[in-house]
Amino acid sequence: MTITTQSLNFSFIPHHTFNHRQRHHHHHRHLLKPQTKPHAQLSLTTPPSPTSQTTPTTTKVIIIGAGLSGLAAAVRLHSDNIPFLLLDSSDAVGGRVRTDSVDGFLLDRGFQIFITGYPEATKVLDYKALNLQKFYSGAKVYYNGTFHTVADPLRHFTDAIQSLTNPIGSVFDKSLIALTRLRVLTQSDDQLLTADETSTVDLLQRIGFSDSIVDRFFRPFFGGIFFDRELETTSRLFDFIFKCLALGDNTLPANGISAIPNQLAAKLPPSSIILNSKAASIHYSDSTYTVKLTSGEVLTSEYGVIVAVEQPEAVKLLAGELVNFSNYSKETVLLHARSTVCLYFSTERSKVPVNDPVLFINGSGHGIVNNMFFATNVASSYGPPGKALVSVSLIGLYEDESDEDLRVKVIEELGSWFGPDVVSLWTYLRTYRVKFAQPNQCPPTDLKKNPKVGVGLYVCGDYRTSATFDGALVSGREAAEALLKDRSLVRAS
Ligand SMILES: Cc1cc2nc3c(=O)[nH]c(=O)nc-3n(C[C@H](O)[C@H](O)[C@H](O)COP(=O)(O)OP(=O)(O)OC[C@H]3O[C@@H](n4cnc5c(N)ncnc54)[C@H](O)[C@@H]3O)c2cc1C
Repeated sequence: MTITTQSLNFSFIPHHTFNHRQRHHHHHRHLLKPQTKPHAQLSLTTPPSPTSQTTPTTTKVIIIGAGLSGLAAAVRLHSDNIPFLLLDSSDAVGGRVRTDSVDGFLLDRGFQIFITGYPEATKVLDYKALNLQKFYSGAKVYYNGTFHTVADPLRHFTDAIQSLTNPIGSVFDKSLIALTRLRVLTQSDDQLLTADETSTVDLLQRIGFSDSIVDRFFRPFFGGIFFDRELETTSRLFDFIFKCLALGDNTLPANGISAIPNQLAAKLPPSSIILNSKAASIHYSDSTYTVKLTSGEVLTSEYGVIVAVEQPEAVKLLAGELVNFSNYSKETVLLHARSTVCLYFSTERSKVPVNDPVLFINGSGHGIVNNMFFATNVASSYGPPGKALVSVSLIGLYEDESDEDLRVKVIEELGSWFGPDVVSLWTYLRTYRVKFAQPNQCPPTDLKKNPKVGVGLYVCGDYRTSATFDGALVSGREAAEALLKDRSLVRAS
């Protein structure tokens, strides 16, 4: 039985009070179930009999993938009351932005920071409701056996003055940071994202930064953001992130990083989100798109399909005759992807060596730890009362090493940072290995790719713009707007 043989009746009534926790329970594999809630926007009735006069109706738009880009596309369509179905193969929305709740700890699936200066995020998210908890603006750099503060002079003036003479960089380096800030703040985001590009490390050298500050600060700090300690990532992305950091705070939502996609999902009609449903193929004929699911079920859409899956999946899904979408295979894309490992530990709050909500970065040039922080110092809600959560991040996947080997190495290494007596009290919680954390973003890049790849076929995701929360949100909105424009559905403003 396929869904195309069914009658789908749409009546879109905006519904803003849905509790997303309920949704996750209600929408596991329910494609063929009738929607019985009084506010349901989509209803699927039983298949028409061969003699039935019922004309099969299809949805207007199918969005494949409910990460930030797919959610942003859905929010945009919903603002124009366009019916859609948002599918995801996983058991919840969010894609790479997920949080697990384990024994009272909030474990983000890999270390993620939300920068409030992201321009698109400012427009689509309700920051107040996210209850954002701030990091210290700067970092503590572990170098030569001790910690050195690198502080943002506009936010922590005294710390910044005191740090002028530390060995992380020269006074000249620190003045170059101020000049770089001025340079990026005086350009628009579009200018930064389309400027002439080189690698980040080359840009830093051209600006005149010393090797000391590049190795001790930029490699661990921006390398941690790009998952790329070599800093081969495009200078466009460096400039964009540098500007966002200058304009906003580094934060975590009190309820975990997944609060961000959950907030977007809560704006959508609950019945439009279909979880545990993996798209296997997309077909186009007679002006209609057909999406086949791995379950064998089939969906059709009248206006088109928005593919919002991560790059390797998109390459696979769109392979073949449909469109000339990618010159690379899924394997090639994965080979060049940026990976990370995140290990979590718990300890007693009273035994945490520092109470500041600060990020520690490894500027020593040795070891496997790139950065770490005491998450409960930033957001106490990340742990149960009295317990602290320790988050440690590595760059790369460390495929040849077991979780146990990594745990032992990390504890030994951080023992030299904080003292073996401190880390010996830490209890191991969990390891996350994220193979596809971000796409390769080395030059040459095009951070403003056209979302339209065929008639009625649109593609979005962080690999179309910048591999950030913001880039994903922008690309999702732009894919929806391209579809609306093609269908002349844009509201007269
Ligand atoms: C560990 C980590 C740390 C990060 N840190 C930051 C940070 O600090 N700041 C920042 O700005 N960005 C960060 N990022 C990047 C950011 O998370 C991503 O750029 C963004 O979330 C990508 O969103 P997306 O919608 O493009 O893709 P995804 O989130 O990957 O969403 C794709 C969705 O498609 C679904 N899907 C795939 N195939 C199918 C299919 N065949 N059928 C149906 N559904 C399918 C997947 O289940 C998934 O939900 C980080 C990423 C990771 C992994």
